[in-house]
Amino acid sequence: METPENEQFRDSIGTINTEGKRAWVYPKKPWGRLYDYRKWVSYGLLLFLFSSPFIKINGNQFLMFNILERRFNVFGFPFWPQDFHLFVIIMIIGVVFITLFTVAFGRIFCGWICPQTIFMEMVFRRIEYWIDGDRGAQIRLDKAPWNAEKIRKRVLKWFVFFLISFLIANIFLAYFIGSDRLIQYVVDGPASHLSTLISLLIFTGVFYFIFAWFREQVCIIVCPYGRLQGALLDTKSIVVAYDHKRGEGQNGRAKFRKKEDRSALGKGDCIDCNQCVQVCPTGIDIRNGTQLECVNCTACIDICNHMMEKVDLPKGLIRYASEDNIEKKAKFKFNNRLKGYTAVLTILIGVLTGMLFLRNDVEATVLRLPGQLYERKADNIISNVYTFKVVNKTVEDIADMHFELLSHKGKIELVTHKNFTVKAQDIAEGTLFIEINAAALDKDKTKLNIGVYQHDKLIETTQANFLGPRSYN
Ligand code: SF4
Ligand code: SF4
Repeated sequence: METPENEQFRDSIGTINTEGKRAWVYPKKPWGRLYDYRKWVSYGLLLFLFSSPFIKINGNQFLMFNILERRFNVFGFPFWPQDFHLFVIIMIIGVVFITLFTVAFGRIFCGWICPQTIFMEMVFRRIEYWIDGDRGAQIRLDKAPWNAEKIRKRVLKWFVFFLISFLIANIFLAYFIGSDRLIQYVVDGPASHLSTLISLLIFTGVFYFIFAWFREQVCIIVCPYGRLQGALLDTKSIVVAYDHKRGEGQNGRAKFRKKEDRSALGKGDCIDCNQCVQVCPTGIDIRNGTQLECVNCTACIDICNHMMEKVDLPKGLIRYASEDNIEKKAKFKFNNRLKGYTAVLTILIGVLTGMLFLRNDVEATVLRLPGQLYERKADNIISNVYTFKVVNKTVEDIADMHFELLSHKGKIELVTHKNFTVKAQDIAEGTLFIEINAAALDKDKTKLNIGVYQHDKLIETTQANFLGPRSYN
């Protein structure tokens, strides 16, 4: 059975035409109160994104994700592979945070915070409007033959897009390898770091491809978060929504006519001006309901409010609302469910902050040398050999360190020297022996508590297994 024309949106996405090819979206230039707010938010976020690799706290880059050297800084706190459990917890908290936030507030993140939307709508798209003009001019330019004007505009646009993509790739590199090293590479010149230059150009190409051509397809096809919406949203979730009750009335939407009593005629408030469709960067019609493609950018809210103002109807035909708000005409209430979610989010953020601040600056591991049995020495002394690793996560050297047994009487002997120093943000490694009198052992495998001291101050504790004979005489 053929799908009725007004239901066809259910069978296909807005950016694919009937032949299955990409339908290029030419969104009308957005403007309005929410767009202005989004501009300010995006300026702040862009400033944050571009400046974070160059901000240092206690000598640590504010944000750094050096995967190759396994060095990570989050908000100026250095993380080591030894902190991996913290990373896992942060990721779990992140997933829970996003889930709860989405259930309550829909895709606000996509429209206001997501770097893809910020770069696409607030950087590349605005350059496109500046060079190619608004929607109509862009359509005409695309259809026009390759004359001097089209070549000039295209070359200029592609060149500016390339420059910005190159800049973004550099910033990403600063996140990966550290801003100090990036600056050093720039000073040394590209010829000295050819492999880095090639990686940089590959990243530039990826960004260029995304922002010059792939665009909204990232949100529709690639982004897993967008795909989760169907599972996360419910009738209480606040999303960018068309008030279909008001917009359709009894007899559906209809074009605006002057001096006509629309409510008496049963016409809805939607004047079918199509502006919300034309302004949408993902090419959908929000009047068809919440859709996977909608990134909650609010452009349709702004333009519809403007249209409502023009025809002297109340604003808010498209607005942030839940399905229940629209169906039951209930005003938005910060209900118990939202309060609960907000409380959980606050607790999670508190836990995360606490974990970051309470994290130990020094981390020690003492492991028995694999494959080595214990050694029995004179005077009934049992000895085990271990390797140790002490990580100093601070920006200062920690000198005069040594180990002491906390749980048993015995001694710890370092192979090379007695006390040792761990340099700032470095690791000290070595071998040590632990010796305990067999009389103090009550089984063949004993868990030991070991203290790590700087001078006489206990700064970290760790555990290790100690092997001994099965029977004691
Ligand atoms: S902008 Fe508003 S009035 Fe115009 S078509 Fe969209 S919903 Fe209807
Ligand atoms: S439907 Fe509205 S909020 Fe959603 S992407 Fe389109 S313009 Fe933005």
